[in-house]
Amino acid sequence: MALVVQKFGGTSVADPQKIVAAAKKAIARQQGGHQVVVVVSAMGHQTDVLVDLAKAITDRPSAREMDMLLSTGEQVSVALFAMAIQSLGHKAVSLTGAQIGIRTDSTHTKARIKSISTDHVKSLLDSGAIVIAAGFQGIDQNGNITTLGRGGSDTTAVALAAVLDADLCEIYTDVDGVYTTDPRLLPEARRLGSISYDEMLELASLGAGVMHSRSIEFAKKFGVKVLVRSSFKDVPGTVILSAEESTPRPASGVALAKDEARITLENVPDQPGSSHALFSRLAASGIAVDMIVQNVGQGGRADISFTVPADDVPEALELSGAVAKQLGASGVSHDAELAKVSVVGVGMERAEGVAGRMFTALSAAGINVRMITTSEIKISVLVDKSDAQAAVQAVHRAFGLDAETAEGEADVAGSHLVKSSPLEVVRRLEGMEDLAIEDCQLDASQALVTFTELPDTPGVAAEVFEELGRAGLNVDMIVQSHPRDGRAEISFTVPAGDRDKAIVAAQKIASARGAAVADVPHVAKLSITGVGIRSHAGVADRLFKPLADCGINIDLVSTSEVRLNVVVAAEHGQKSLEVLRKAFGL
Ligand code: ADP
Ligand code: ASP
Ligand code: MG
Repeated sequence: MALVVQKFGGTSVADPQKIVAAAKKAIARQQGGHQVVVVVSAMGHQTDVLVDLAKAITDRPSAREMDMLLSTGEQVSVALFAMAIQSLGHKAVSLTGAQIGIRTDSTHTKARIKSISTDHVKSLLDSGAIVIAAGFQGIDQNGNITTLGRGGSDTTAVALAAVLDADLCEIYTDVDGVYTTDPRLLPEARRLGSISYDEMLELASLGAGVMHSRSIEFAKKFGVKVLVRSSFKDVPGTVILSAEESTPRPASGVALAKDEARITLENVPDQPGSSHALFSRLAASGIAVDMIVQNVGQGGRADISFTVPADDVPEALELSGAVAKQLGASGVSHDAELAKVSVVGVGMERAEGVAGRMFTALSAAGINVRMITTSEIKISVLVDKSDAQAAVQAVHRAFGLDAETAEGEADVAGSHLVKSSPLEVVRRLEGMEDLAIEDCQLDASQALVTFTELPDTPGVAAEVFEELGRAGLNVDMIVQSHPRDGRAEISFTVPAGDRDKAIVAAQKIASARGAAVADVPHVAKLSITGVGIRSHAGVADRLFKPLADCGINIDLVSTSEVRLNVVVAAEHGQKSLEVLRKAFGL
């Protein structure tokens, strides 16, 4: 007998008929000989309705009372769901997060799960009942109701699947799987038969709303197999599984974060500790920063730019202003009318010319790229909000995501699904949802090349990476800073053996464009790998602080959900490795 967790999203339980239809799916699973736990979201847009109610009373509702209010949406739907099953002649018991024993921290409205007790649920299952669990909610150590953040029912479902050692976690929703991009945004998007945890984690955290990214953290850490499928159509879905079981593709999908803002501290004294001063303040307020770019600057001063979701702008600006003053920076600028477009693929690292292809497509569409950062499995660019849709389409087409041959069918019955094993690091965690750092490694084989004074016009990045591609260069990290006074900076790393070739190619472009080229022939790249690196606020800062304390300056940074890379001068490589291993308890 297998144990299956099924999760039904808001649209899947929007009215009584849909609840009954969903209840029949749970019953069918149980009749197939399995134990079934169902996780349910609030009906339809009920959570939005409750948010609006609170806003009608006050602009600044307290977070604790918001949780008290929002958790009622799920309490309604679990009760109705259990009644539906009972009315069809089967046993069901509904439980709130507190009744299950979903313990969280006390960060109201975005609480993280610490532990889940399984005794009560298991005894109900053993008695033959289908257990209906309220999604999105838990309880803190003082008995306060907490919620996990919007979309958090996915996280409840996968976390329950993890602790119950479920064979499968089915996510029933209003699309029939994970698509190459949001099908509502781009009708030519295609369903993927399968996708790896790392890709889904990255896509979800970069804007693909189909899964709550924290649910994929659980899936990867605990080896839970997830199947995303339609509530309304009996068609194959998308299986989310480990990288070993999935096919590596240079690009699996394109994500859009529509409301992204860039904040820049201008003319910051370029010394160790500046980044730490800034990012520790942001982390302390729970603001998760994504793209971080520091330009090389002039006269011992540099600009530090970073992106945050537009909602966090007021608070991030206030904190940045205070830090700018303290550091003696000349000022703070920002732009909240931006969007972030990212392409994600685990096979990207081994494919050639991926970055060039993306920038060429954006250039051909006349889109100016405001900032670039890359990691091993993704490239993110910042564009004007008005260009967002065109950018997604251009990038999606450039990687042939609209036309790829039909995907393998997902195994809907789940009969051949073999569970992956939990990551080793899980044993060391105190709380289930704690940040999981697995390793820190040093790569001392690269050179760093930087263009300064590049004109800020569409097509510059494309030209640079097309030329490097023609020279047969394999570029690793790429960063383009936020342009100032019409001039941008692009830095990239290549294998140190290719440094001379890279300089020749770079100088060719630089002389045609009136730019300058500088380089560091040997740099050290440190990579920290784990799960949930970007979504846990403050991870980047845990790296800035120990390096600053040793007087080590950081040349480049890039973040993803599964990896954090920093580039420092070669002579600091070993020392950096030591302090970082210590800082992350490795
Ligand atoms: P639920 O209420 O079931 O949790 P959501 O609205 O949270 O459903 O998620 C499903 C929606 O996610 C889809 O309707 C789709 O518009 C959106 N979406 C965004 N990116 C993707 C993607 N890459 N693949 C599929 N759906 C996506
Ligand atoms: N009802 C909550 C929300 O709308 C949680 C969820 O649906 O996942 O965000
Ligand atoms: Mg959802």
